[in-house]
Amino acid sequence: MRFAFIENKLIPSYCLKKSVSTLPISRCKNLQLQPLNPSFSPNEELQKILIGKQLLIDEIPFTIAEIQEHYENGYVMYRKGLETNGKLTICQRCGNNDPRMFAVFPCARCQEECTYCRNCIMMGRISECTPLINWTGPNIKTKLYESPLVWTGTLSEGQQTASEKVVTAVQKNEDLLVWAVCGAGKTEVLFAGINEALSAGKRVCIATPRTDVVLELTPRLKAVFPEIPVAALYGGSEDRHLNAPLTISTTHQLLRFYKAFDTVILDEVDAFPYSVDKTLQYAVKQSRKPDSSMIYLTATPNEKWQRECRFGKRNFVTIPARYHRHPLPVPEFVWCGNWQKQLQKNRLPDNVLRWIEKRLQSNKQSLLFVPQIELMEKILPLLQKLHPDIQSVHAEDPERKEKVQAMRNQKTPILLTTTILERGVTFPNIDAAVLGSEDRIFTESALVQIAGRVGRSADYPNGTITFFHYGKTKTMVKARNQIIRMNIEARKKGLVDG
Ligand SMILES: [Zn+2]
Ligand SMILES: [Zn+2]
Repeated sequence: MRFAFIENKLIPSYCLKKSVSTLPISRCKNLQLQPLNPSFSPNEELQKILIGKQLLIDEIPFTIAEIQEHYENGYVMYRKGLETNGKLTICQRCGNNDPRMFAVFPCARCQEECTYCRNCIMMGRISECTPLINWTGPNIKTKLYESPLVWTGTLSEGQQTASEKVVTAVQKNEDLLVWAVCGAGKTEVLFAGINEALSAGKRVCIATPRTDVVLELTPRLKAVFPEIPVAALYGGSEDRHLNAPLTISTTHQLLRFYKAFDTVILDEVDAFPYSVDKTLQYAVKQSRKPDSSMIYLTATPNEKWQRECRFGKRNFVTIPARYHRHPLPVPEFVWCGNWQKQLQKNRLPDNVLRWIEKRLQSNKQSLLFVPQIELMEKILPLLQKLHPDIQSVHAEDPERKEKVQAMRNQKTPILLTTTILERGVTFPNIDAAVLGSEDRIFTESALVQIAGRVGRSADYPNGTITFFHYGKTKTMVKARNQIIRMNIEARKKGLVDG
């Protein structure tokens, strides 16, 4: 869009005569907020949609004239979609400042060659002439809910300690890392903190890198907060314009939020793609109010965060034991020689084969993790000779869901998998092994997560985890040490039996 700057106001070109000179918004100088006109009565629907958001004109189901009226009365602000600081262009929605991630197109809106951000194009194009629109008028009166949590479960001792820390962080608007081992039961740890926030009229967001998790968490939270409207946000969800006290969102969808939340809970900080994607990290930051609390949840913080915890530079709490009070299974390292070379001759190392045969004989379901799809496809027919129902699964597998379900239904004795099943899935009674744990794809966090698949159920708290390798790596040792340290801490604190 093009604007003229007249009497201290931005005026969109469509309201003006052709002869008035206009500029794309990125070249306008004074984008100051208009003074708030208290006698203006804003459109409540527009207010609901815009509060805590940063949206493009096309995303707002109101006319430009109406938006402009709110702007002139100080209820709405136009920000530049792309900002230039000297040399660098920075996308204000996604934080992109990589010159390779911008392109130029002949733009119908400003009738110029217009630069746009390629990085967040999937959420609608932001170019030099695109305003980002946000609400600057008064907030909606938030409803106070008096202790809306309806939950009769009990927390383990470890969960209880963490839960209290979460409540304090919410009250004091602090940041807190909850470092909870796989199977500790981290969702329940959040309930009291969310309850505290909602009782104080705060707006809460649970953000996670994965849509699956949004879909899984939403009914659970609706069940324990039955009075609270909950918005579930992921690509294509219908709650896009729902202004709810509790939002459960993919980190991706947070790109549309701006200073919205008093409490942000970020699940699986270490998980792909959040851990490597600066855009998503920027989105989470932008979605917080300046004075807000941030709760990070993970079973496997990265090395930097682990160090910060050790040296007292990060506010954190650990849950070192599972809710069922059994220690975490510790990985066993087994050298299996040059297994890739063997595989070229359509053979598997003897000790790997024995591991498989033993599980088949004793009817113990198992997961076998393999570093690459191609290798997995070579292994599958070899193993199917031992049992025709052995299956494999990977991220792009069209039958992924069905195969995981077959494993759940105990129809699959052994499932070969890439790292996609490293987290988020629970099979009650399994052993697990990694073939080629020396491969770089198996990061410390991946290995800890894989080990965390074993022994999760209270009925079957034991299981074995084996790393078959062709040369032990530092990463493998770090992963094992992390697990051992948690078990030691759990014993010291009396959180495991036996
Ligand atoms: Zn343009
Ligand atoms: Zn962008």
